[in-house]
Amino acid sequence: MSRYISASLRTKVAVRAEFRCEYCRLPEIAAMVKFQVEHVISMQHGGKTIFANLAYACPVCNSKKGPNVGTVLEDETVFVRFFNPRKQMWSAHFEIQDGHILPKTQIGEGTVKILDFNTPEQILERVVLMQAGLYP
Ligand SMILES: [Zn+2]
Repeated sequence: MSRYISASLRTKVAVRAEFRCEYCRLPEIAAMVKFQVEHVISMQHGGKTIFANLAYACPVCNSKKGPNVGTVLEDETVFVRFFNPRKQMWSAHFEIQDGHILPKTQIGEGTVKILDFNTPEQILERVVLMQAGLYP
């Protein structure tokens, strides 16, 4: 199975995402680094390199997500998969309050837990971007 993502496929994924991270919603234009095309279901778990399984992600979210597809909650008794930007609406699982990304569902909770959206630096960055009208 190929990992190769052509330039045209990369562009299609970026355009579909409106050049924002599909997890933390950071706009690429506000970032100091180029965003990445990632596998929603990682290749390790059988995910394919096809448009329907790719998402646009900032390097921070992509590296924290890694090959994971979910996590455990409630003292390890409940497994939840991560937010899937190909199948779910961001606003159904998350909300933004004062620069914090807060979960609205267990899927949101598991995603916030592992992708660790709310570091002090990320919160500050979001507040500044909100003041500039660039976020969310
Ligand atoms: Zn992100």
